[in-house]
Amino acid sequence: MLTDIYLVLQNYLPELIGALLVANALFFLGQNDKLGKNNLIFASLAFLILSLKDLFNVVVYISFFNMAEQSPINPNLMESISVALTSLSAMLMVVGAFDYSKTLAVIKQPILAAGCMLLWYGLSWTALLPFDWASNLPTIYLCVGMTVLALFFLFVHFTSNAYRLIIPAFVLFGMVIYLFQTLFINSKYVQDISPWITESGLYVILVLSIYRSALKQLLKETGEIAKVLKATKAKIPQMIQSSPFPIIISALKDDRIIIANEKACFLFNIDKNNLKQFKLEEYFVDTNSKKELLQDLSTTPSVENFQSVLRKPGTKEAFWLEISACVMDYENEVVLYLAFKDITAQKKHEQDLFEKAVLDPLTGCYNRRQFQELATKEIRRAWRYDTKFCVLMMDIDHFKSVNDTHGHAFGDEVLKALARVCKKTLRETDIFARYGGEEFIVLLSQTDLITGTSVCERLRKNIENHTLQLPSGEDFHFTVSVGIVGSESTDKLEELIKHADEALYCAKENGRNQVRVFGEKESFEKLKEKTLSEEPEKDISEKLIEQANQRNKEDKK
Ligand code: GH3
Ligand code: MG
Ligand code: MG
Repeated sequence: MLTDIYLVLQNYLPELIGALLVANALFFLGQNDKLGKNNLIFASLAFLILSLKDLFNVVVYISFFNMAEQSPINPNLMESISVALTSLSAMLMVVGAFDYSKTLAVIKQPILAAGCMLLWYGLSWTALLPFDWASNLPTIYLCVGMTVLALFFLFVHFTSNAYRLIIPAFVLFGMVIYLFQTLFINSKYVQDISPWITESGLYVILVLSIYRSALKQLLKETGEIAKVLKATKAKIPQMIQSSPFPIIISALKDDRIIIANEKACFLFNIDKNNLKQFKLEEYFVDTNSKKELLQDLSTTPSVENFQSVLRKPGTKEAFWLEISACVMDYENEVVLYLAFKDITAQKKHEQDLFEKAVLDPLTGCYNRRQFQELATKEIRRAWRYDTKFCVLMMDIDHFKSVNDTHGHAFGDEVLKALARVCKKTLRETDIFARYGGEEFIVLLSQTDLITGTSVCERLRKNIENHTLQLPSGEDFHFTVSVGIVGSESTDKLEELIKHADEALYCAKENGRNQVRVFGEKESFEKLKEKTLSEEPEKDISEKLIEQANQRNKEDKK
């Protein structure tokens, strides 16, 4: 039994292992070679099927050896399957050897091979069966398949880079000759040298020669790639120089500038002979912006449309730039590649549009619409943080007569002067706007009514004391009336404005050039006197404690 197994392995194992190795080697070569790729992959598939056939033979023989009589597998059926698989494998070699990929989709090639195989199988079976040659069919198929493949290997150098396949081609011819002689000169040679040794030897040479081809091919391609890479690398500075955009390459490690093209030198005032003079960071107006850019680059390989304000170092000349950036290797260093596009004009246009939409053209302060938007936000904020604020309305006194007496143009100058004084007196956080005509509105954020009222008084006085020159050269003074309301009055903006307006009306009624608080009859001065003279109201809990102490004292008495 063991000797039987040994015989089976001797018959089929060399071919099984050899075919597997050849399949592997061809597949590897097919991955590397560009033009012959499909052919080589099909040849690899063919050898894989060949190894399957032998695997099938080994398994079935070992399982049912000497039990052919009782074998559940009909020996004829086994032979047929073996022949069919060899036939398919040979057909794949034939089909793969011809470059069908140009005319047929890759998926169609195995179908074509299977179709040819069936046809060939049927024809040869019927033709050879009467001569009792059927058992030799696998060998014949293999000889034909390998010959075609060998020829393909031999002539493939006309169409592809894999010219070194000449050696595997000759080894394949050697295998064909060997297989053929097993058909005719059966006895003597086979007896002298065991056939499995010859077969194994041929497979070993074939595999080694294919791997050698693959390796040579790989080395050749790597060499070519290295050459191209070197040439491309040499071209990088040239490409950067000829770019229509300013480009800078800086070392990530120490921020030193390595390359700056002509456009960048011009934009940033860089002396190209003294690139290391400045660090990249010095070009950013806000260094946080550079940090933000690097932060972005730590999450994506490249950043585009990053907008930032940069400047010529050491000067105040700043400009808006759109930056495309990436981190890369350059001359054994990790560098930052930056390409710039000047978008200052675009930004200015955007700013102009924004200003047109939100600013009053004459005085440069916010317009009514912007006031409403900003005030709404501020009111929401005040609610959230539980802070107080005031709204005040201001109107120039007898402005009509200013226009009538000194002309409309001078009236405009008065409006501008008023805006200037107000901006100077108010804080950055206050929202100051022209409400219409000669009427202005202010939201004093985080301000209680008492403080707000004193701000109004300061505004009124500053305006009263401001001196303008009439066209005639004489001094001119003007006054305003102001109405103010505190945030505790109501939580609706429209109502606050209405209340401030009512207080303003009151100030006008009462003789102008004064501040009026909504709901208060007295003027600001009186209100202040009253506030100062009155003892501050005690906290209710303090009052209760005091009362309780008093009661205690009386009880003790
Ligand atoms: P009062 O003290 O009651 O406020 O009197 P007034 O004359 O200031 O009030 P009135 O509302 O009658 O007059 C406002 C004037 O403001 C009328 C208008 O011609 C003038 N005015 C409005 N807008 C402008 C402007 O943009 N430029 C100039 N020069 N005048 C303007
Ligand atoms: Mg007026
Ligand atoms: Mg008015």
